[in-house]
Amino acid sequence: MVDIRSVHKSFGTLDVLKGIDLQVRTGEVTVVLGPSGSGKSTLLRAINHLEKVDRGAISVGGTLIGYRRSGDKLYELPEREVLKQRTRIGFVFQDFNLFPHLSVLDNVIEAPVSALKRPRKEAVDDARRLLDRVGLADKADSYPGQLSGGQQQRVAIARALALKPKLLLLDEPTSALDPELVGEVLDVIKDLAGQGATMIVVTHEIGFAREVADTVVFMADGRIVEQGPPAQVLDDPRSERTQAFLSKVL
Ligand code: ATP
Ligand code: MG
Repeated sequence: MVDIRSVHKSFGTLDVLKGIDLQVRTGEVTVVLGPSGSGKSTLLRAINHLEKVDRGAISVGGTLIGYRRSGDKLYELPEREVLKQRTRIGFVFQDFNLFPHLSVLDNVIEAPVSALKRPRKEAVDDARRLLDRVGLADKADSYPGQLSGGQQQRVAIARALALKPKLLLLDEPTSALDPELVGEVLDVIKDLAGQGATMIVVTHEIGFAREVADTVVFMADGRIVEQGPPAQVLDDPRSERTQAFLSKVL
């Protein structure tokens, strides 16, 4: 489903991704861990072409992201094509990023109606189903500012799902939440995993990683230091970097 090949990215003289190779199979959950500044968000953003990579290639569902290949050359796609690709990849941010002036329901139908040109009635029916799925059927007419952080993040997840994405990217979806609200958001993500969603989740919730991940990836300093099943990476890490990191977050 996701194929990341020797991806490099620098910001000026700062090398942030130094050759990332990662494959994610359909229906699998990959959890990415690593210290602050190791390049986790940059990697997720690159998958959506929110960051342009300097070298390497990323494809999702067999489609090269952000580029068109011609012979052995890559040509960047026009913005409108990139936007179309992005509609097939859901992105959930740490700080929810809901539209404050739109109701919960309107937040969820915004992209299907404006980007995918779906009939409003159909989008509304879908949105109500999705809100029910994240436990917020009764909040459809509320505004984001009237919801708790956990509820807002569940709306953000419903909004990402409204595009029926092939892939869901979640960047620290619970790190802005009060501790007592983390569980309700993780439960929604767990449900999605149980229903076969393909996801890449950046999170420091080790318990969640152990329970839900098929693969845990540990990144440090722009590289993947270690990856494998949770039991191996979390309980029997090979690298000292991984051991040192886990001893701090566990
Ligand atoms: P955190 O756990 O704090 O979210 P991260 O692993 O997600 O960290 P990134 O956000 O990917 O790290 O950032 C990696 C490095 O790239 C950092 O040193 C950051 O300052 C730098 N960086 C990220 N985006 C930009 C940008 N647009 N311009 C310049 N530097 C950037
Ligand atoms: Mg980050």
